[in-house]
Amino acid sequence: MMQNIRTAARWVLPAALALCAAPAAAQSLRGSPASIDRMYNHARSADLTFYRTGTGVRGAAREGDLVRMSGNDDYRLSGVSYPYALSSTRTFVQRLGAQYREVCGEKLVITSGVRPTSLRLSNSTDRSVHPTGMAIDIRKPTGGRCLAWLRETLLHLEAQGVIEATEERRPPHFHVAVYPAPYRRYVSNAGGGSSSSAQSRSASRGSSSSSSRPSRTTYRVRSGDSLWEIARRHDTTVDRLRDANDMRSNRIVAGQVLIIPTR
Ligand SMILES: [Zn+2]
Repeated sequence: MMQNIRTAARWVLPAALALCAAPAAAQSLRGSPASIDRMYNHARSADLTFYRTGTGVRGAAREGDLVRMSGNDDYRLSGVSYPYALSSTRTFVQRLGAQYREVCGEKLVITSGVRPTSLRLSNSTDRSVHPTGMAIDIRKPTGGRCLAWLRETLLHLEAQGVIEATEERRPPHFHVAVYPAPYRRYVSNAGGGSSSSAQSRSASRGSSSSSSRPSRTTYRVRSGDSLWEIARRHDTTVDRLRDANDMRSNRIVAGQVLIIPTR
């Protein structure tokens, strides 16, 4: 588990996923027992931990097995009891959020992250993958164009085999499970050649192609650290650190794993 996350922290790339116009013929956003099974079986085979309590979630966050979703210019959280997820899932939220805001001019709204089994909702299945931090819920946009874009994008990613998404009615939301290893590979491959807005935005902030090189070092934040201090110690700058980690503020928390950009 820890090893997975450390590896995971290395590939978080600022590049946005390339939107694909190809139709996703066999895919559907309708939930089904088969869809629930796919998510559950993936979580089991990836050996993910199903957190049972809030204490377990907070412990995992301290260890860096789960990361905090803090919101940024592109997405916000609403009514989320535990704002944590697997780092691959947070990367998904950041990338989707950046594209969503570009298309819709509003923030993506996340309504659930990790949900310990002790918090299971009455209408949710005992095979839910929310307790692993793999899944998030996204509020369904009211605008037709944004809704259409979100459906199309989720179907596209599902067709790539990197997520499993369902459109739920009560309350209206998309449930998305992000498959850690396949999504990491997808993000690495999407790194080059994309003309998407999020990528050009980070390019204009001064990040170079070197910040998306796959081999990186990481640093686990200790209490009392400041971003400026970490940058100085690693012979880099606050701006470069923020770019490499998709950060919109200088706020860091103990236990958070930062990618240290290399030249
Ligand atoms: Zn859900």
